[in-house]
Amino acid sequence: MDVVIIGGGAAGLKAASRIRRKDAEANITVVDAGKYVSLGRCGLPYYVGGIIHEIDNLRETTYGAVRDEDYFRRLKNIDVLTQTRAVEIDRNRKAVKIIRGESEDELNYDYLVLATGSVPSKPPIEGIDAEGVVTLTSAEDAEKIVELWEEGAEKAVIIGAGLIGLESAEALKNLDMDVTVIEMMNRVAPALLDREMANLVENHLREKEVKVLTSTRVERIITENDRVSAVVADGKEFAADVVVIATGVKPNTELAVNSGLKIGETGGIWVNSRMQTSDECIYAGGDCVETTHLVTGKKILAPFGDVANKHGRIIGENITGGDVQFPGVIGTSVFKIFDYTVASAGVNETSARDAGIDFMTVIVPCPDRAHYYPRTSYIRLKLIVERGTWKVIGAQAVGTGEVAKRIDVISAAIQNGMTIDQLSNLDLAYAPPYSPALDPVITAANVAMNKRDGLFDGINSFELKKMLESEDIVVLDVRSEDEFKERRIESEKVINIPILELRERLDEIPRDKKIVVVCAIGLRSFEALRTLKGAGYKDVMILEGGMAFWFD
Ligand code: FAD
Repeated sequence: MDVVIIGGGAAGLKAASRIRRKDAEANITVVDAGKYVSLGRCGLPYYVGGIIHEIDNLRETTYGAVRDEDYFRRLKNIDVLTQTRAVEIDRNRKAVKIIRGESEDELNYDYLVLATGSVPSKPPIEGIDAEGVVTLTSAEDAEKIVELWEEGAEKAVIIGAGLIGLESAEALKNLDMDVTVIEMMNRVAPALLDREMANLVENHLREKEVKVLTSTRVERIITENDRVSAVVADGKEFAADVVVIATGVKPNTELAVNSGLKIGETGGIWVNSRMQTSDECIYAGGDCVETTHLVTGKKILAPFGDVANKHGRIIGENITGGDVQFPGVIGTSVFKIFDYTVASAGVNETSARDAGIDFMTVIVPCPDRAHYYPRTSYIRLKLIVERGTWKVIGAQAVGTGEVAKRIDVISAAIQNGMTIDQLSNLDLAYAPPYSPALDPVITAANVAMNKRDGLFDGINSFELKKMLESEDIVVLDVRSEDEFKERRIESEKVINIPILELRERLDEIPRDKKIVVVCAIGLRSFEALRTLKGAGYKDVMILEGGMAFWFD
């Protein structure tokens, strides 16, 4: 059996390795246009930021062998051709034309795998091809950025505040550069986070002296002698020695399109659940294909390293006689930005609305371990729950604590269609150094059940701001006087009655007005709301997430 694989990244080499493990005889050839194969591209920002010292570290095995052509030949008997471009597929003759340097050749296949990844999606703006304007998608890009820094670049502008843009911001800040991030949408990480969660990340970036401009559109790049000198956005100029274009990626489908394979509605290569394209002898996987979102049922692009590896394994299984299926994804993601971990799974408010889902949200800041244990950190967790079925359909978490573990637990819950009631009783491990007695995941489910059952009404910071401008409300802050003095909502509509004095001072709270209760994270507010309700107050709600989610 002859197998040709185009693309020596995560999907391509995983498929190659799986085929070899199951079939000792197959002739496997991997072609890749780049200099390196099997490079952990997710590690590129850490190479740029100086945390990982050599590019080769990103293509080493756990036991220190460099995964180059020689490694694949000797260990796995797989032919890897680097700096070799596949330029044409002849589906009738089952042949791929390749070009290596000046020479042209042809490879015949019984099965072909397209694992061509993605390409940066660059905005059509003036100056984008100037020297000093880069993307961060390949080893060459990373080496170029380091070279610009070594030549003395001091100011960086990053266009796009998605995962790669923000990781680039941290990397360049680690090199002591002056960093500005410009994002067209009204928040950072817009594909993952809702606004209040994104605001936490934005504040953290500012704490780390990264300038962040949201709702700002880049108009052009100014050059001097063909070299970038500034970026113009919303009429203002931002000086730049380096510009990183991080405006997303799109599937690399050129070969598939030219050979007449079916392209899906998202622009990715169409595949069935066995990862077969519209030609049964051609499989495809990784960033170049589209997949199904398991919550919305819609086709989406999921350019993630873990997904590409899973695709590769499934392709390898099926080519060697197996029959395994890829079910789809819920977009579970995580990234580090300075001291914060940011993670999400399932839908956010925007994608839930787009899918026509009726949902409810709760925001819950919690300690990540027993609050008395040293080095306890806070996690800010948001759950999105489908009304009616009360299934968990989305989650976002931000903070310095153990965020990823919580999102992974919720991700498993979403994929298994769990309700908030089931989540509330999940048997999770507990010991003070690892979690509070009720894990944040369980607390979030409990808060969601309280909201569903009408034990409280909640609003967010943006809604409260509007109410303060337009309604005759009272904001009851139930924190201590010291906490209140340190940071408060600036309005004459705010009164401070510490929670322990609330029952004695009820007569200070008007009964004919809407009351919004505020505390540090929402816990005391809930207590106060129940006290007020018990005393006959009708129109009471809480600021969800408390002052942790109040944005001045
Ligand atoms: P790739 O790894 O891109 O491999 C495709 C290969 O195909 C390339 O080597 C290319 O040279 C080759 N190729 C294309 N066309 C041809 C042709 N015609 N002929 C020959 N060769 C060709 N994902 C996560 O899940 N978590 C992360 O933290 C994360 N961080 C990231 C950080 C950065 C900076 C980047 C760039 C990506 C990150 N990703 C992350 C995404 C992840 O790297 C990709 O999803 C994954 O690499 C996709 O694997 P792939 O095999 O589909 O494509």
